[in-house]
Amino acid sequence: MERNQELGPIISGAIVRTENTFKAISPADGSELGRVFVCGEAEVDAAVRSSETAFVSWGKSTFGERADRLDQIADILKGDLDWFAENETLDTGKGIGESRLHVNNCINMYRYFASVIRTHEDTFIRYDSGSASIVVREPLGVVGLILPWNAPSMLLSWKLAPALAAGNCAVVKPASAASMVIINMALRFQEALPPGVLNVVTGSGETVGNALAGHPGIRKISFTGSSAAGSAVGAIAGRNIIPVTLELGGKSASVIFEDANLDRALQYAILPIASSAGQICVSSSRLLVQDSIYDAFTKRLKAKFDGLRVGDPMDLETQVGPVIDKTQFDKVMGYIDGGIAAGAKLLSGGKRVTGGICDKGFYIAPTLFGGVTPDMAIAGEEIFGPVLSVLRFSTEEDAVRIANGTQYGLGAAVWTKDIYRAMRVSHALEAGTVWVNDYLDNGAGSPFGGYKKSGVGRELNKIVIDYYSNIKNISVANVDEAPPIF
Ligand code: NAP
Repeated sequence: MERNQELGPIISGAIVRTENTFKAISPADGSELGRVFVCGEAEVDAAVRSSETAFVSWGKSTFGERADRLDQIADILKGDLDWFAENETLDTGKGIGESRLHVNNCINMYRYFASVIRTHEDTFIRYDSGSASIVVREPLGVVGLILPWNAPSMLLSWKLAPALAAGNCAVVKPASAASMVIINMALRFQEALPPGVLNVVTGSGETVGNALAGHPGIRKISFTGSSAAGSAVGAIAGRNIIPVTLELGGKSASVIFEDANLDRALQYAILPIASSAGQICVSSSRLLVQDSIYDAFTKRLKAKFDGLRVGDPMDLETQVGPVIDKTQFDKVMGYIDGGIAAGAKLLSGGKRVTGGICDKGFYIAPTLFGGVTPDMAIAGEEIFGPVLSVLRFSTEEDAVRIANGTQYGLGAAVWTKDIYRAMRVSHALEAGTVWVNDYLDNGAGSPFGGYKKSGVGRELNKIVIDYYSNIKNISVANVDEAPPIF
């Protein structure tokens, strides 16, 4: 990403300049990346109208034409993978290795939905009468896609790929804290798309996000972010009677039984806390460890946490980068202080890291709490930072009860070599994804989404095409006869 860019909303393929701007800041060192023009209601309206105009022909394009455009987007990403990954790291502070994985995930997602739409088959249902139903999927129109800051490139692909594949035009609102990466990406995607098919609006959620979600031209909202904001967006969708997908927060539990491969369980206990400095919706921020192995496992975990390398996310040797900004830093430190005050045992971290680049950003030492009980805030609330709470359990029933004991249900894991137990517990856990002897891995096609307050709907799977479609039943008479009862 070039420094000192002045970017902003993209309407009909071009950046629009407005009166007000905000600074885009690199979380790694607090430096200014550039400035972002802020939309008012007029720009939000112009973006939606431009997409409505583009929809007139894009909505009629063939499945093959759309599939080709999505493949072209994947080619653009592949051709410049390092540049896209650098942009993600500069704007979010995510480790550069992780950003490359995310761009690869994006490529897979655009290719996957290209193949889904290329091979799409409508259905034909025969009635007893001999008449028949042809079921077709038609695009909705203009959809609003609202993104968080923690994994913007990847989460854009999870929404944009199915939305475009289904024949919709999209207006995207990135999070203010990670707008540059999305604007730069959307500018490059213009090479593959007719003007107006992909527009971007910029500014805060409360003003621009709200205006987009409530715009009468918007036919569906797909939102990823906190449960609180998701609830507000869901209420707008309810008022306007439009479909909504909500991908929200989590407090995912990883359950480690005494017979597990403990070396592997140890590595995967650290991965979602170190990656993105724990700012991952599906991070397994609660570790439930069986009594008999609790002390030895926690001791090994502490040694690993103590040795994690915190620093510059552009350095491939770094294992934990910064949190996004001061607001997030204060929130995470507040939970750490609260955990100590509630009587949890601080085993590692718990403080700001200083020295070198860390003085310029907000770096938190990866923090490990032992002796956590289910009633503590650090066991039930989403912290969204590098903090792991370890809880004890004795029986399988105990583990399931504790794991299901929060308002969230995004992810979970079960660690055991006993396949019967793995299956029993997987079925009992209230979560959209349950990993068995694994964590975080996913692929195009594997549905992702939440139970309970973690959301409504799924992403990543071909069923999502239905969420972005009007499903029409064309019922066709087979015979030219009078109705049977008259
Ligand atoms: P957030 O504060 O809820 O913001 C998410 C997006 O919504 C941002 O673009 C924000 O704009 C906008 N927004 C905020 N209030 C709004 C409103 N009233 N109306 C319309 N838009 C509004 O979340 P975040 O802090 O960016 O992201 C962290 C959260 O996202 C965590 O809870 C995490 O678990 C969740 N998340 C979930 C998933 C998943 O797939 N389930 C994936 C990633 C993250 P501004 O920021 O510009 O104000």
